[in-house]
Amino acid sequence: MKRLLLVGAGHSHLEVVKSFRQGIPQGWQVLLLSASGQGFYSGMVPGYIAGDYRLDDLTIDIAALCERCGVLFECAMVKSIDPAAQTVLAQVAEGGRLLDGQKALLHFDYDVLSINTGSQSLPVGDLAHTGSGRYQGLVPVKPVEGLLRAWSSLLANTGAGSRRIVIVGNGAAGVELAFAMQHFFSGRSPASSSVPTRTAEVILLGKQAEALQGFNRVTRNRVAALLRKSGIVCRGGFEVAAIERGRLIAVSGDEQAFDKCFWAAGAHSAVAADNFPFRCDVEGFIEVEPSLQVAGFGNVFAAGDAVSLLGQPCPKAGVYAVRQGRVLASNLKHSMRAEPLETYRPQSAYLALLNLGNRYALANRGGFSVAGKWVWRWKNFIDKRYIAGFR
Ligand SMILES: Cc1cc2nc3c(=O)[nH]c(=O)nc-3n(C[C@H](O)[C@H](O)[C@H](O)COP(=O)(O)OP(=O)(O)OC[C@H]3O[C@@H](n4cnc5c(N)ncnc54)[C@H](O)[C@@H]3O)c2cc1C
Repeated sequence: MKRLLLVGAGHSHLEVVKSFRQGIPQGWQVLLLSASGQGFYSGMVPGYIAGDYRLDDLTIDIAALCERCGVLFECAMVKSIDPAAQTVLAQVAEGGRLLDGQKALLHFDYDVLSINTGSQSLPVGDLAHTGSGRYQGLVPVKPVEGLLRAWSSLLANTGAGSRRIVIVGNGAAGVELAFAMQHFFSGRSPASSSVPTRTAEVILLGKQAEALQGFNRVTRNRVAALLRKSGIVCRGGFEVAAIERGRLIAVSGDEQAFDKCFWAAGAHSAVAADNFPFRCDVEGFIEVEPSLQVAGFGNVFAAGDAVSLLGQPCPKAGVYAVRQGRVLASNLKHSMRAEPLETYRPQSAYLALLNLGNRYALANRGGFSVAGKWVWRWKNFIDKRYIAGFR
C-alpha cells in the first residue's frame, strides 16, 4: 500500500480530494488530516457578516467530500513532521475540539506528503510581546474559523450601548470586513434584525495612508469615496507599534481604543517552523520549487498561503491556492507513480472581486476596475458555483 498523506484542508487540498472523484488507484491509501470536519469559504465570509448569506451557504463538509471521493479523513491537528522517518504527529480532535493527553496523539506514516495549512494573521515580532492582556478582544481574521467564532460571540454578547470595532489592515480583507460590518450595524442588513439592537463605530486603520495598496488608481479612488460616504472611520498611516489591553498605540504616538479588534494586517505562517523542519523564507513560509515540491525533499509537497514559491513570488490569495491545487493534484499522483512532474506558473494578475456591503461589489484586475450591484451578482454567481463544486 502506498500512502499519500494530506495535511490541512485548505483550498489546494480540496482540489486534490476532488480530483479523486473517479476513484483511488488500486494499492493507494489517501488520508486527509484536518483540524476540523467543516471548512468555510473565505471569499464569502464578508458576505456572511454583511448578512448576504447564511453560514451554511459558505460551509464545505470536508468529511463528506472525502467520503464521496474515497479519501480517508481524520479530524486532527498536525503538531510536527519528521521527514527522515516519513511520519507526522497529530493531535486528534472530536467535533472540532482537540483531545488532551498522550492517547490523543497519533503517528501517521506516509510515502508522499502534502502540506496545505494556510496562514494566520496574528501580530508578530515585537508586537507579539507588548502590553499585558494584549490579546483580549483581539481577533486574527485568519484562520477564518476563528473569525467566524468571534463574530458570532460578538453578536451573542447582548446588552445595550455602542461598541468600537477596529479593523487593523487596510488591504483587501480589511476593507471588505469594514464594509460588511458597517453594513451589518447600519441596520439595513437582513441579519441584523435577528440580534438585539446594537450600534457600533467601525474604524479601519492601516499602515498605508490609502486603502488597497497594489490595486489600480481607479479602484482606490472608488473605494476611498465609498469609505467617506459609508461612515467608516478611516485612519491611514497608523502603524501599530504596541498593543495594550483594549488600546493600540501607533509609531507616531497616536492611540486608538477598541472593544473588539480584528487583525487583518498581513499573513504569517500558521505552523511553527521548529515542528515543520523545512527551508522557510523570512516570514516562515515553506520554500517550494515550481513543481510545488518542498525544497530539498522529493516526496514532500506544499501549496497555498503556507508556501513561498522560489523565483516566482505570488500573492497570498485563494485564487492562487486553487490554481496550485490543480497542479498539486497532478504532481502528487505523478510522484506516487514516480513519473515526471508538471510546473506551476502563477498568473501575472488576478481578478479580485471585493464585496463592499449592501450587495455592491468591485472588480479589479491589473488596470481594469468596475463596480456596481451587478458586480455583486457576478461575484455571488462565481462564489456559489465554487461551493456547489464540493456538494
Ligand atoms: C475575510 C477574508 C476574505 C478573503 N477573500 C478572498 C477572496 O475573495 N479571494 C481570494 O483569492 N482570497 C481571499 N482571501 C484569502 C484566502 O482566504 C487565502 O488566501 C486562502 O484561504 C489560502 O488558502 P490555503 O489553501 O492556503 O489554506 P486555507 O484555506 O487557509 O486552509 C488551511 C487549513 O489548514 C488548517 N490547518 C492549519 N494548520 C493545521 C495543522 N497543523 N493541522 C491540520 N490542519 C491545519 C486550517 O485550519 C485551515 O482549515 C480572504 C481572506 C480573508 C481573511
